[in-house]
Amino acid sequence: MPAIAKEGATPFVPEDLTLPVLREAVQNCRGCDLYQNATQAVFGELETGASLKRPKVAIMMIGEQPGNQEDKEGRPFVGPAGKLLDKCLQEAEIDRRKVYVTNTVKHFKWEPRGRLRIHKKPSMKEVHACRPWLEAELEVVRPALVVCLGAVAAQSLLGSGFKITQSHGKLQHREGFPPIIATIHPSAILRARTSEDRDRDTNVLLDDLRHANTFLAR
Ligand code: SF4
Repeated sequence: MPAIAKEGATPFVPEDLTLPVLREAVQNCRGCDLYQNATQAVFGELETGASLKRPKVAIMMIGEQPGNQEDKEGRPFVGPAGKLLDKCLQEAEIDRRKVYVTNTVKHFKWEPRGRLRIHKKPSMKEVHACRPWLEAELEVVRPALVVCLGAVAAQSLLGSGFKITQSHGKLQHREGFPPIIATIHPSAILRARTSEDRDRDTNVLLDDLRHANTFLAR
């Protein structure tokens, strides 16, 4: 079995920064041990034209990690959370064809519960190890705006002290990055305990997406 790289994913990221090359290379990454229990790495993509070398992208949406269905299909946001995200994007009148979706961590982390594979939050060490892939995507895709979905993505780019509850929907600026807005991850909405919580969180996501759309229209 190949050794885990001390530098995380860095040695596995090719110099040729195009999406098709990156997508192929990520399958060989051994930057942390998450590859061991996942079916495959799940790289980011545009709904239209996953093979475009340098796509024209308005928003890069960054989630946490692939889920059970994404892990099996090898594509991000194809499970229930992705379907909810698509619905909210449509409601916020954001053109899905200009949205690139990806995750902070590219392999599915899970633990068994009976016959199910239950999502397990990636550690900061794993987030850090996987960061070179996210940076490579940002370099290639060069979106006008980044939308972080959930705390893992938000804290990865905006610092560990960033709190979605306090600062969601507000435009954030960090040197070397496009403008960033953080909001609720659609999977958190799906996990809401009551219909009131679900409605409230859906409205937060919709408001933040509308804010993102207003920024893009400037
Ligand atoms: S999670 Fe990221 S760093 Fe870890 S093996 Fe997968 S691609 Fe590499």
